[in-house]
Amino acid sequence: MRMFWDKKMETLNPADLHALQLKRLKKTLHSVESVEFYRKQFDNAGVAVSDVKTLDDLQKFPFTKKQDLRDGYPFGFFAVPMRKIVRIHTTSGTTGKPTVVGYTRKDLDTWANLIARNMTMIGIGQDDVFQNMVNYGMFTGGLGFHYGAEKIGMTVIPSATGNTRRQIEMIRDFGVTTIHCTPSYAMHLSEVAEEMGETLESLKTGIFGAEPWSDNMRHTLENRLGVTAYDSYGISELFGPGVAFECPERDGLHIWHDSYLVEIINPKTGERLSDGERGELVVTPLVKEAMPLIRYRTGDVTMLMEDGCLCGRGKKLTRISGRSDDMLIIRGINVFPSQIEHVLLRIPEVGNQFMVYIDKINHLDEMTVEVEINRSHFSGELADLARIQKKVVKELHDTLELRTTVKLVEPGSLPRFEGKAKRVIDRRGDI
Ligand SMILES: [Zn+2]
Repeated sequence: MRMFWDKKMETLNPADLHALQLKRLKKTLHSVESVEFYRKQFDNAGVAVSDVKTLDDLQKFPFTKKQDLRDGYPFGFFAVPMRKIVRIHTTSGTTGKPTVVGYTRKDLDTWANLIARNMTMIGIGQDDVFQNMVNYGMFTGGLGFHYGAEKIGMTVIPSATGNTRRQIEMIRDFGVTTIHCTPSYAMHLSEVAEEMGETLESLKTGIFGAEPWSDNMRHTLENRLGVTAYDSYGISELFGPGVAFECPERDGLHIWHDSYLVEIINPKTGERLSDGERGELVVTPLVKEAMPLIRYRTGDVTMLMEDGCLCGRGKKLTRISGRSDDMLIIRGINVFPSQIEHVLLRIPEVGNQFMVYIDKINHLDEMTVEVEINRSHFSGELADLARIQKKVVKELHDTLELRTTVKLVEPGSLPRFEGKAKRVIDRRGDI
């Protein structure tokens, strides 16, 4: 079975990779000189493209933020004339104007090839039937996967979203082997299939993305749908879906280092972090024509994994563990609420409802985690309570490298959130 779409690029040795990255970085920096925003940014920072001698010199250049793209609405970040732009997408802005992204013909081809790498990497190809159950409109997810799948010769069903019963009939009637959708839609699909008495025998592979999902969700979806589930990370400003993708090891996501220059930074200070340190993902795409970006802050939290991968494709990112705007600093240590949630989910004796309080006591940051006890794993004995509390403290310490106070509370006693949960209360600013 073919497992590489572009083996040479996917397995470049570090020396050749760095040389290629440097060459492409210089070209990208030159290409953004036609963008007024970047001319001003570089002037203000006192940097010029000619200063770049090594990849590390990129750190002298300022970041590009989401707000900058909004301020450039609609076409302020295009580095080519409009007649070279063959397609426009927008990203869903929850507030204010959306962000516009543009593509040249070459961009569309590059993007399809990167998706083709992802899909070939997990062993799907010409013999597979692919149902693409995501929005085909202004959202990049639909067309992005569509053209990548066609490129590798899959049979593509552009079913888009909605009408779940019809989706299930198509999976059955067309012998669909591979689906792409959000994990929450996959869950819904599995429930409707169950109601309809459909077993979806033909399904083998599920590609899930566009929202964060846990390993628990992975197991549930795999059991319910009979698929092997792969995580796909995308961001429209960097083409769209498939920026990073799991290989069959399913232990971290590959990002194509010849096409995306990756940095992990401390979101508060902007300083670059080492491999194995968690922080905000910053990407400089190296192969974009219409809308090249320099040091784009994704706001997503991950880290570069220190070890390589058995498949031979270079350094991976861990799965996205949250948004950098949620980061807390407790006694100098970076903590993300998603890490706390992750630890608690592993401990059957407690539920998944929790609250975090941060106080300053005798000039020291103190973190208290309140979590609901899970009745079915609790005997009611005081000794058992102490045992569970000790276990939670230890597990939190192992992951966060931070001492915390843990309070076990009655099931149902913590607040429930309908919208975005506010689980962290930072009281350090209060008197
Ligand atoms: Zn791999």
